[in-house]
Amino acid sequence: MQDDDICFGCYNFEHGDIFPDDGLIIYEDELIRCQFEKYPRATGQTIIVSKEHYEDISEMPLELGTYILKMTNRLIELHKEILGEEKVYFCTICDGKRNHLHFQLLPRLKGELGGYGHFVKEEGILMDYHENA
Ligand SMILES: [Zn+2]
Repeated sequence: MQDDDICFGCYNFEHGDIFPDDGLIIYEDELIRCQFEKYPRATGQTIIVSKEHYEDISEMPLELGTYILKMTNRLIELHKEILGEEKVYFCTICDGKRNHLHFQLLPRLKGELGGYGHFVKEEGILMDYHENA
């Protein structure tokens, strides 16, 4: 799709078949969608996607960034309450030919090793996401 200059994020919002809901959307409004990662690299990994198309954080309006941080804070509170996360990593990596602004929220649970070398795990199913969603 990127080679055809199609944004997979916009395409998914229109057609819904690239990243199917599968019951993993935990919050959505007119600006953002928050969804558990289907193949997470951390227990509780959550994707926060802008509804509006921006290639990356450099194009993001400050007001949207402020809103995303506010909603991220609420997600962290829920993660702490439900998962007992101890720390959280927050990042955005939009590279390649076409991208759609999104952020990754990567919880670090109690007892898990911290530090850069343990930033993420192998992709996989780490928890019952449907139950927690
Ligand atoms: Zn897009």
